[in-house]
Amino acid sequence: MIEHPSSELLLSFIWLLALVASIAWCLMAHPLGIAPKASFRFFIANLSLGIGIYLLTLRTTETNLLNWFLADMAILCSFMLIGWGIQQLFKLKSSVKQDSLILLLTAILLLTGQLLQLHAVFFGVVFSVTATVFSFSASRNNYQAIQKDFGFPAACLMSAPLFVMTVIFFARTLILVWPDPKADAFIATYTDEGIPLLWSSILLTLAINIVMVWGALARLIAKIRQFAERDQLTGLWNRRAALEKLQEIHELWHKQQQSYSLILLDLDHFKRINDSLGHDAGDAALRRLATTLSAVVRTQDLVSRYGGEEFLLLFPGVSASELPTIAEKIRMTLSGCQLIWQNTPIELSASLGYVTVYPGAKAEHLLTLADKAMYQAKAEGRNKACAATLN
Ligand code: GH3
Ligand code: MG
Ligand code: MG
Repeated sequence: MIEHPSSELLLSFIWLLALVASIAWCLMAHPLGIAPKASFRFFIANLSLGIGIYLLTLRTTETNLLNWFLADMAILCSFMLIGWGIQQLFKLKSSVKQDSLILLLTAILLLTGQLLQLHAVFFGVVFSVTATVFSFSASRNNYQAIQKDFGFPAACLMSAPLFVMTVIFFARTLILVWPDPKADAFIATYTDEGIPLLWSSILLTLAINIVMVWGALARLIAKIRQFAERDQLTGLWNRRAALEKLQEIHELWHKQQQSYSLILLDLDHFKRINDSLGHDAGDAALRRLATTLSAVVRTQDLVSRYGGEEFLLLFPGVSASELPTIAEKIRMTLSGCQLIWQNTPIELSASLGYVTVYPGAKAEHLLTLADKAMYQAKAEGRNKACAATLN
């Protein structure tokens, strides 16, 4: 072993830290079941890092298979697995094939270096280039995924540790290929100048694990929200979420006099579809209705599944004069909508009741009025849109 007590202590701290983190990820994957597939990858990543760093502590000045080749490969595997975990976490395109190829190429180069007894700098360069590639790809994936869901500041903050890691490995590559041999001391493991690099490794191991935990929890929260607010069959907002939104826009109307309207619609003779073609055909019709409705409204409008085959649509900012045209457009779009189920065409149509907020109105009362209007449309022969009769 190379004698340098402070470096040995810091290295031992890193592998212990990685092993403790791997146990925590193992618990996250099972029994907690929080993002289990991604957590499992982070578990293996930390385990691999712990093993790699431990082997590194056994290094001698002479390169050998166990403490040089296997140590480097274990550490690189852990970087690759962090990337795979992030891809799994945010449901991104997998880069398993390219990464495996890069890892294989790295292994061939390191083994060739071993056979030819090349200088340690060669191993350092090969290791650092691969580490730069893996950490850059992980930081880019992480940034893009978080930016999409949580915006720019969160993406910068949460990708910073991976980005810093990329910069460090890139700088390490440059220092290694730099002609001045004195520079090597700054990136070596067992020198006083190398101590800051070890400290940054500790901080990065901690920070990257924190970022990954945050990602796993963000995924969990998104899933819980999805269950609480969305209808599982159609993916539309559910009744609870729609009623909350209705209260929200009703309060806005109170405070800022911003008008709003709503439409309640019910599919015509839906039971017939279930009875003649089966429940799956009925489900397919409901899904088709959901995509058609979502496509016909504006982005600021809300489409929800209010009950079995009843849908509630909210239109912030829409006045009484605009509403009949909108309701008629929706009715016409639905009545022209045909679904082919196992070679049998299913014709869809709906009856609509619509209403606009008016002075003194309560949100629940508007729902009752729209419901009455919808039943009037049914009574008048279906495939019809009726305005609510006030008072
Ligand atoms: P109307 O024109 O008067 O509205 O007739 P209808 O047949 O559409 O009305 P009814 O209320 O009699 O039938 C609604 C049916 O919707 C009954 C129920 O089995 C079915 N339904 C409710 N939820 C679902 C669902 O999630 N999937 C399927 N396939 N059917 C559902
Ligand atoms: Mg119906
Ligand atoms: Mg109904």
